[in-house]
Amino acid sequence: MLNIVLFGPPGAGKGTQAQRMTDATGLPQVSTGDMLRAAVKAQTEVGLEAKKYMDAGALVPDQVIIDLIKERVKHADAQNGVMFDGFPRTVPQAEALAEIVEVSIVLAIDVPDERIVERICGRYSCGNCGDVFHDTFNPLPKAGCGCSTFLEKRRADDNEETVTARLEAYHRQTSPLADYYQNAGLLTVVDGDRDIDLITEDLLKALN
Ligand code: ADP
Ligand code: ADP
Repeated sequence: MLNIVLFGPPGAGKGTQAQRMTDATGLPQVSTGDMLRAAVKAQTEVGLEAKKYMDAGALVPDQVIIDLIKERVKHADAQNGVMFDGFPRTVPQAEALAEIVEVSIVLAIDVPDERIVERICGRYSCGNCGDVFHDTFNPLPKAGCGCSTFLEKRRADDNEETVTARLEAYHRQTSPLADYYQNAGLLTVVDGDRDIDLITEDLLKALN
């Protein structure tokens, strides 16, 4: 079992790196943000509750997230472990995770606040395959995205106002987790303010 936690502020590049590391590790990417957006789209009970928090850039209540994860790790593709992207985001979530699976390593992607707004406000993805791009830093290549039918999607919460609230939530509720995992001897920090390929190299090195 290899259970990886990708940790960092919104826009740090967790999803981008998770997609790349999925090929290298064979582990599925488990993004609580993606799961919540799917629930919002499907208008499930969880989605209806989560939407108000997401729109405001606030964290969704811990128990909602923990219940989602408990179900997700039961899937067949999670048998050898998973790559958690955007989870845990609070100390209670981390404590709950410890009861569900054994975390092998926490890879923190370090990006200064002043980079975050430009990263998030330029983000778009393919609505079909989920590949993530950036207007300036990582545009859609000529060869296209992972699927043959690129469909541009931009997230409703990727605007300057919500980003400020999300960064605030990160510093207040999520960043204390760095100490939590440092104390557990699980934390590896990688400089995320560099070329995407160099970051992937360092993250994969940390796994070996
Ligand atoms: P997160 O999952 O941590 O919120 P994403 O992977 O979605 O972050 O990345 C946020 C935005 O920044 C995306 O538009 C992505 O293309 C871009 N991006 C990711 N990594 C880098 C990087 N190292 N340098 C510049 N832009 C990046
Ligand atoms: P980003 O990495 O850009 O912050 P995510 O897709 O991870 O975006 O999350 C989008 C939103 O979903 C968050 O702002 C929050 O409202 C909610 N969310 C995602 N993961 C969690 C979590 N583990 N705990 C609480 N809320 C979450």
